[in-house]
Amino acid sequence: MTFEEAALCESLKNNVAKSGYVKPTPVQKHGIPIISAGRDLMACAQTGSGKTAAFLLPILQKLMADGAAASCFSEVQAPEVIIVAPTRELINQIYLEARKFAHGTCVRPVVVYGGVQTGFQIRDLLKGCNILCGTPGRLMDVINRGKVELSKVQYLVLDEADRMLDMGFEPDMRRLVASPGMPDKEHRQTLMFSATYPEDIQRLAAEFLKVDYLFLA
Ligand code: AMP
Repeated sequence: MTFEEAALCESLKNNVAKSGYVKPTPVQKHGIPIISAGRDLMACAQTGSGKTAAFLLPILQKLMADGAAASCFSEVQAPEVIIVAPTRELINQIYLEARKFAHGTCVRPVVVYGGVQTGFQIRDLLKGCNILCGTPGRLMDVINRGKVELSKVQYLVLDEADRMLDMGFEPDMRRLVASPGMPDKEHRQTLMFSATYPEDIQRLAAEFLKVDYLFLA
């Protein structure tokens, strides 16, 4: 698969070209068709592999094909996508990549992370949110404050899952998937990325992903 052959609309292809991406990396080449086909995916991929674009591009394509509601101000936001990563740096990189690819579309990504005041992040969130990117603790904080409604979630992305476990975020990840309104695994698409594939990640994948998920290494 080349980016030209990928089932992506013109504005996404233009944004990919503007990013200077000419050739898909292996995780993009193999991951994009799997995600576009609606399958759950557990991928072993390191930072630097291009995994962020591998999940963002098919997700953005689906949101645009569905005619995702242009985001607008509301006291409660109902994102179609939740992306979780362990650190502020990582989630910010994902958010910036999402903004870059969503440029010129009606899809609005928002980022929330700990270590800074919640106020300005919530003000930005309430302006509209299709893709909510967050670190686990802060994400649960904005959900618990009643600012986010989860019933519209179509995609749940857990990035650097092994680091999330190492950093003690398993309880937050569990609280997130069990939160009121979050569609169960049969009614959402779940994508998990991890640099390593130890037993605790295999167990988590079996729990959070559909039984027939694909494994990509
Ligand atoms: P990631 O693994 O998603 O953190 O991406 C690592 C870096 O590779 C980022 O700086 C991306 O901008 C860049 N990148 C991702 N995909 C491609 C591609 N197909 N061609 C060139 N650079 C890429």
